[in-house]
Amino acid sequence: MKIEPKIVGNVCLTAHPAGAAAEVKKQIKYVQSKGALQGPKNVLVLGCSGGYGLATRIVCAYACNSTTLGASFEREPAANKTASVGWYNNAAFSKFAAQDGKKEATLNIDAFSEAGKTAVVAAAKKLFGDEKIDFVVYSLASPMRAAPDGQVYKSVLKPIGKAYKGKTVDIFTGSIKEVEVEPANDEEIKATVKVMGGEDWVLWIDALLKANLLAKHAVTVAYSYIGPELTYAIYREGTIGRAKDHLEKSAAQIMESLSELEGGAYVSVNKAVVTRASSVIPVVPLYISLLFKIMKENGKHEGCIEQEYRMMQRMYNEGQPVKTDSQRRIRLDDWEMEEAVQARIKKIWADINEENLKTLGDLESVRKEFMNLHGFEVEGINYDEDIDPQKV
Ligand code: NAD
Repeated sequence: MKIEPKIVGNVCLTAHPAGAAAEVKKQIKYVQSKGALQGPKNVLVLGCSGGYGLATRIVCAYACNSTTLGASFEREPAANKTASVGWYNNAAFSKFAAQDGKKEATLNIDAFSEAGKTAVVAAAKKLFGDEKIDFVVYSLASPMRAAPDGQVYKSVLKPIGKAYKGKTVDIFTGSIKEVEVEPANDEEIKATVKVMGGEDWVLWIDALLKANLLAKHAVTVAYSYIGPELTYAIYREGTIGRAKDHLEKSAAQIMESLSELEGGAYVSVNKAVVTRASSVIPVVPLYISLLFKIMKENGKHEGCIEQEYRMMQRMYNEGQPVKTDSQRRIRLDDWEMEEAVQARIKKIWADINEENLKTLGDLESVRKEFMNLHGFEVEGINYDEDIDPQKV
């Protein structure tokens, strides 16, 4: 079949396998062009199929020569239906890794479930043999979680306390609309923390410790976001922000669990990028389009792969302690949050409209990155070709 983008809201329901593979290859090439890094030997990446998790995995495999075990939860392809893009990304990563002599295994499991954890433990024993895991990356982004208490929790992207009124953009038409989002109730706040907070990260580290799979000095990292004041109401001070507060607090709890191994638990505050997860947050795509324009102009534009290369440099810096802020967070959002960058965005924000967005923002890059993220509009791919979505 001919595979075309099918987009509803800011969600793309289809994915192109050849385009996705080309995008994975591009990330590998970036890492190869940057050169080798010191790093962990054996890595587990939870949420390995896209965005920050995939980028971290690629940096580990291709800069640090790590053996990587990846787990994610993606839709498989059917005869007349494409897989989700993460499924194709995983297939491409496995193919390139095999060609390049990189050891890896990849699982499609629900990481929140007991069964998923058991499957990963078994796969880790098989892949790493007598060796243990040095580095665990927790990079899940999900709208829901079936928790061990038997309940299914759904996360929401809502403000807390009072309704939020703000601007949001349709990535594809450029139309800017005022949105009003009603505040979350207590149940919704609790549910979002259950899904995107640190509870499951803690459970993962406990499960790996119980299985005696973590090495001495093992390190784990999870990803967070802060962002500028203009997104606070919907992000950092909203339901997702509560979850991130919980995630950040969980690092301290995990530090204690890892104390016997003299290990470390970190949260890395990453910059805003275009991923499946960020595209559905109100306000954020508009903010990102202004951010991209400025960061491209000042030569500091980054995507997931550039961010993760920098993170691994910081984490494994010749045995030096990891540089963090006063709350023990790694700040990869340093360039995004530079005063000059944020002052410009603040100045533009109040007056942004559909007309001046074309010159003050870079919505086209956001749109293109979103398409590329799903394997579309990738250079060198023949989109007229008939493709079997099950064949990769
Ligand atoms: P993404 O949507 O690109 O990737 C999410 C990953 O989670 C995928 O691999 C998916 O398969 C996996 N996943 C979801 N549910 C799962 C389940 N039940 N079991 C196993 N795997 C599951 O998201 P992303 O933007 O890379 O987000 C990763 C982390 O980075 C999140 O914590 C997010 O908040 C954080 N972050 C994102 C941004 C951004 O701008 N995108 C910025 C800072 C921090």
